[in-house]
Amino acid sequence: TEQTEEWLQEYVDDWVAFYHNKIGDGEVASYIPELQKADPNDLGITIIGKGGMTISSGATDSPFTIQSISKVLSFIVACMERGVGYMLDKVDVEPTGEAFNSIMHLEMRQVKKPFNPLVNAGAITVSSILEGRTSDEKMEPIFELLTEMLGYRPAINVDVYESERDTSIRNRAIGYYLLETGFLESDLNITLETYFKQCSIEVTVNDLAQIGLILANDGIDPETRDEIIPRQVARIAKALMLTCGMYDASGKFATYVGVPAKSGVSGGIIAAVPPRVRDEELPFLEGCGIGVYGPALDDKGNSIAGIRLLRHIASQWDLSIF
Ligand code: GLU
Repeated sequence: TEQTEEWLQEYVDDWVAFYHNKIGDGEVASYIPELQKADPNDLGITIIGKGGMTISSGATDSPFTIQSISKVLSFIVACMERGVGYMLDKVDVEPTGEAFNSIMHLEMRQVKKPFNPLVNAGAITVSSILEGRTSDEKMEPIFELLTEMLGYRPAINVDVYESERDTSIRNRAIGYYLLETGFLESDLNITLETYFKQCSIEVTVNDLAQIGLILANDGIDPETRDEIIPRQVARIAKALMLTCGMYDASGKFATYVGVPAKSGVSGGIIAAVPPRVRDEELPFLEGCGIGVYGPALDDKGNSIAGIRLLRHIASQWDLSIF
């Protein structure tokens, strides 16, 4: 296995070097001014697999804000607090086919609930449902879950938080719409504060890989065998990631990569590769978690180099769940 590890490491190093500047006309997100400071050519990846074996390459120490990837976590926490039945009553689990911050779909049909918790309307609704009277109280269980998964307590990047809060015209519009339709269960300002804070949690690709590993294994930490997330909740989270996780390019991602994943506008992607017998030479990949960071985005808001790298290794290593 040492040989395999060495070989995998070299392989991943080569492809990170190849893809790190293949960003075409991709650009870092600018609608949150603070995000513009990222280096568009950064590319990093961490894969954590069986036995804790870790392959890490490129910009693995660059911290970035978790952004939309937090929507998976807040939905998981809300399900753990309120129960799956309650949550599925409040938010649907259908892809929208629209941009993540679309308001249009809220008006398009006689909506009884936001389409899914991974687009802004659904995620803001989830933030309103989280228990707690203040945004910090609402955030606490998210931090506790992260601490359990990562072994340390991540922090909020205050500059990004304030930058988003102060430029959040669209999300406020969505918030008001949700308020009007009666979907919010907490005060609008507290809800939005919670949402901006959860988006501003700072992580690295190693953190995303570790979270992905636990999701891949149905909520169980494969090292300790501890159940961190109830199996049913982890499965719903992965179903949502597969169908709605990559914005309105989720269908293409499922087609060409084929694993549950979620991206965010700072350029992060988390992927959970459920166990399935693939290459017998590479048991390490069964049930692995992957974190990727590449801040130059395509027009849908997904990391360009990140998707190219994932697509490459997914086809080489037969990672698709299909
Ligand atoms: N903070 C971002 C927003 O709502 C999250 C977007 C994303 O990562 O897709 O605008």
